[in-house]
Amino acid sequence: MAVVEVRNLTKNFDGGRGHGHVRAIDGINLATGEGEYLVLLGPSGCGKTTLLRTIAGLEEPTEGEVLIGGNVVNGLPPRLRRIAMVFQNYALYPHKTVLENIVFPLKAAQLDRAERERKAHWAAELLGIEQLLNRRPRQLSGGERQRVALARAMVREPQVFLLDEPLSNLDAKLRASARDELRRFQQRVGTTTIYVTHDQSEAMGLGDRIAVMERGRVRQMAPPVEVYDDPADTFVATFLGSPPMNLVPRDGHLVGFRPEHLLPVDLVPGEDKIQVPFTVDRIEHLSGDRYLYGTVHRLGEETRVITRLPATVTLPVEPGEEHRFAVSADRLRFFDADTGERSEPVRLREG
Ligand code: ATP
Repeated sequence: MAVVEVRNLTKNFDGGRGHGHVRAIDGINLATGEGEYLVLLGPSGCGKTTLLRTIAGLEEPTEGEVLIGGNVVNGLPPRLRRIAMVFQNYALYPHKTVLENIVFPLKAAQLDRAERERKAHWAAELLGIEQLLNRRPRQLSGGERQRVALARAMVREPQVFLLDEPLSNLDAKLRASARDELRRFQQRVGTTTIYVTHDQSEAMGLGDRIAVMERGRVRQMAPPVEVYDDPADTFVATFLGSPPMNLVPRDGHLVGFRPEHLLPVDLVPGEDKIQVPFTVDRIEHLSGDRYLYGTVHRLGEETRVITRLPATVTLPVEPGEEHRFAVSADRLRFFDADTGERSEPVRLREG
C-alpha cells in the first residue's frame, strides 16, 4: 500500500508539424489515500490515460513531480516503481497456460520455481481462478482473461495498481460482475488503485473518490455521492448523472437541480420550495420510471428541463400540458452564470 501523489504535473505532446503542442495534463495536483480506490473519470481526450502513464513512468512529465510512497520517482523506469498495470488490451501469451502467464513476470525477478508457483497459487486463489491454471487464454471467457491479467499484475506484489479501462471489452453483463469482483478483490488486498474510465456508473460504483477531469485538469475530486450531490461546477454537474442536472438561468445565476428532485408540487417535501411550471413535450419509459422532457418559459427565455418520476408516482401526464412541478429549496445548487463555478445559495424571488 502506498500513497500516489502528483505535484504541479504538466505533460505536453508535440502536436505534429506546425501545430505547436498539445497540453494533455495541465498543472494537476492530487494525492490518493493509502489503499484508496481512486477513479479518474472524464470525457475522451481529457488526459486520463496520459496521467496514468505518467504515474507509471511510461511518459516523462514536462513539469512537476510524481511521488509513490513518499518518494519522487521521476526518472525511475516503470519496473522500479513497484506498480502493476492492467490496460484495456491486456495481452496474455496465447501459447502459454494460465499458470505460465501468471508466473512470467517473476522469471525476470530471479525467483526460484517453487516460490514463483507459490505466488501464482496465492494470486489465483484470491481471484478464484485456480481451476483454470492449466488452460490456455483462448479457452477462457473475457472476464476470466481479465482475472488472469490481474493475477499476473498481482504476483509482483505491487504497491499500486494502475488500471486503464480494464473492463471495456467485456459485454455489459460480464462488466457488471467483473466490476463487483474487482472491487471485492481490491478490498481484500487493500492495494492503492487508480482506475481510468469514461463510464460514470463504473466510477460511481467503484471509487472511494472520483477525480473528474476535463481538458487536462481535475475539476473536482471527492467521494461519488459528493460529486453527484454537490458538483463543483457546471461541467461536473452535467457530466455526471443521466440525464444530467437541469440548469435554469434565474436572477443572474444558473440554478441546478437533479431530474429526480423535480416533482409534482404536492409531492415535494417541506415548505420551502420553488415552483417550476413546465410544458411536457415528450415522455420516455425506462425501467419503471418516467422521464418527462419539457420546456420552462420564463422572462422570454426557454430552458429545457427533464424530470424523472419514479414508478410510485402515478399522476397522469400528457404531452402538451403545463404541469405544476417544484423543487425543494435544499435540493437547489447555484452556479456563477459566467464562470460556471459553484456559488453560495441565493434567495430566489418568487414567480
Ligand atoms: P480516452 O478516454 O479517449 O482514452 P483520455 O482522457 O485517456 O482519452 P489521453 O489519451 O490522455 O485522453 O489524451 C489527452 C490528450 O493528449 C488528447 O488530446 C490526445 O490527443 C493527446 N495525446 C495523447 N497521447 C499523445 C501523443 N503520444 N502525442 C500527441 N498527442 C497525444
